Amino acid sequence: MVNRGCTFEMPDGLLCRAPALRGKAVCYWHDPDKAEEAADSRRIGGLHRRKAKSVATIYDFSGLRTVESAQRLLETAAIETLALENSIARNRALISAAAGAGKLIEVSDLADRLSAVEAAVGPKANSDDVAAFPAEPDR
Ligand SMILES: [Zn+2]
Repeated sequence: MVNRGCTFEMPDGLLCRAPALRGKAVCYWHDPDKAEEAADSRRIGGLHRRKAKSVATIYDFSGLRTVESAQRLLETAAIETLALENSIARNRALISAAAGAGKLIEVSDLADRLSAVEAAVGPKANSDDVAAFPAEPDR
């Protein structure tokens, strides 16, 4: 049997379309029989998000979207791991952190060098008269 998705109409007028529960036309979140359970799940989800925000603040963790933030996380993990009792697992974690740090340093160094090359070449590098295919559209 094909699951056509949840038929609950959302506030924007579109159907929910999440996978419907077996034998039902609505999903877990929109099944009136599961309303209490779904409310508990939402509450627990909110607690987890608040906990994640608190932990991120304590550890000065701002995500993994930049090399600097990834390096900060790696340093924190390395310091916390160094403080543990010596073990094979601890040493593996430290070796992995060192390998990860090497990769981040390499990426950061290449980004710096590329910026320097772009600065030296100047805006002329982006003009149409030096492009190999001037009519090529931007991507
Ligand atoms: Zn739904």
